[in-house]
Amino acid sequence: MTVSESAAEAELEVEAELLAGLESGVTTAGAPEERFDVEAPFRGTKIGDLPACGPDDVEVAFERARQGQEAWERRSVAERAEVFKRYHDLVIENCEELLDIVQLESGKARRHAYEEVLDVAMTARHYAYRAEDYLESEEREGALPGLTETEVHHHPVGVVGMITPWNYPLSLAVSDAIPALLAGNSVVIKPAEQTSYTALKAIELLREAGLPRDVFRVVTGHGKVIGEPLVAESDFVCFTGSTETGRIVASQAGEHLTKCSMELGGKNPGIVCDDADVDRAVEGLIRGCFTNAGQLCISIERLYVHEDVYGQFVEAFVDAIEGLHVGAGYDHDVDVGSLISEEQLEKVTDHVEEAKAQGATVLTGGTARPDLGPYFYEPTVLTDVDESMTLCANETFGPVVAVYEWSDEDDVIERANDSDYGLNASIWTEDHERGREMATQIETGTVNVNEGYAAAWASLDAPMGGMKNSGIGRRHGDEGIMKYTESQTVSVQKHLGMTNPPGVPHWLYAKLMNKTLKIQRHIPGMR
Ligand code: NAD
Repeated sequence: MTVSESAAEAELEVEAELLAGLESGVTTAGAPEERFDVEAPFRGTKIGDLPACGPDDVEVAFERARQGQEAWERRSVAERAEVFKRYHDLVIENCEELLDIVQLESGKARRHAYEEVLDVAMTARHYAYRAEDYLESEEREGALPGLTETEVHHHPVGVVGMITPWNYPLSLAVSDAIPALLAGNSVVIKPAEQTSYTALKAIELLREAGLPRDVFRVVTGHGKVIGEPLVAESDFVCFTGSTETGRIVASQAGEHLTKCSMELGGKNPGIVCDDADVDRAVEGLIRGCFTNAGQLCISIERLYVHEDVYGQFVEAFVDAIEGLHVGAGYDHDVDVGSLISEEQLEKVTDHVEEAKAQGATVLTGGTARPDLGPYFYEPTVLTDVDESMTLCANETFGPVVAVYEWSDEDDVIERANDSDYGLNASIWTEDHERGREMATQIETGTVNVNEGYAAAWASLDAPMGGMKNSGIGRRHGDEGIMKYTESQTVSVQKHLGMTNPPGVPHWLYAKLMNKTLKIQRHIPGMR
């Protein structure tokens, strides 16, 4: 895309309006000493700069968040939920502005930015209406029927520290925070440097919806500088990012015995079966592989296609990819946008160039597109990929998919599972029972049958997260909110103590108890 000078000036004015005032959402101890630049990937030029917070700023953010949490916890869950019902509506009303900021900072296509708006609204709705049920105190079976009354309460952990990546800057800044906040916690977040304005905008809207300022504090800056103090202060750490950084953050949390959830990388397999609807698989896998130019933790980077449909599928897949509209545009017509940065472009280029040099065949793509913008890379399909190539087993996090042929179902499942990662998988078959059966044998936290990733991700009632090196813990559903709570068991013992009653010798008590245990084992509801 070439932009004329006057159009570029107009663009810059709109951008300045979009970002105006957002910096006031950053918590600092005093005037920031250092700042860092934020750029627009569509052009590779600076759009603003923000404070590079230090440990003192983190300390202040946590002080404020602790103060705010006490009053927030005293509100009923229903009262807290009202904020998120309003937020749901505000996100929809501010959809266009949110899309503009997400696109400006991330360089993704508008249709992919829209997925973030959907996710945030749906998550706000889900937890706003379900939190009371999830968090309600429950009666549990007591130790001695009739004598012990036991109940469980779910208390907030306190202040949740969040560290988030740049690839889904709106969604990941707030969708994991919503259940934490509804559970009565406050949150301190450090968003990715590349996309902090989006997080600031999302949190500004939460304040507009009625969330007290101290309940959600933001520190901006570099993970290597403020990651450690943030982890040290947190009562729970919610990290989303690469497996490499996740290991560092998890070990820091471990030192403090602080609980954490880790949403990490993937090398996700897709399997096209002999009975797949090929047209449908092509459409779904284009989204599955190239949404957000492949910078999606759950996107498909390894694609196994049954020999019976291999030729037909590959031809249609390549044809469809070559018809995609790749470019920089703020309308919904662009299919694939830019990569986020020079660093990301280098990584993708290195993976593909190395694979080519080692004998991989490029069926389509395989080159950068500087004519479209500095970080654009063509949607790329490779074959003849083997283990000598870095991209065979390692996450590329770009618009690159390796296609392999298969003939035996057990073998393809083994190949799909032959990975250190275990985040997401996609299976294409017209036989849903077969899809379900295959899915249970795949070692990933989510499996989508006849979808790439969206069906399982958007099933907000169900857990989502990674097995193996793809993570610890889950988001969404009950697991996605209960992780931010401390369970407390309260048992009231009535009439008799937990030992032999007065006047009954202990040997007789033991005999009676043994008889009781034998009977109990056979009575449903007493086991
Ligand atoms: P990254 O790990 O480089 O950075 C993520 C965050 O960690 C950023 O905010 C960064 O500033 C911070 N950070 C960096 N070094 C740190 C340190 N030493 N201590 C504390 N924080 C530190 O990841 P990225 O490049 O921003 O994101 C891409 C990765 O995220 C991919 O691997 C992708 O698969 C993964 N991801 C996973 C999910 C998921 O839900 N599983 C979602 C999105 C992205």
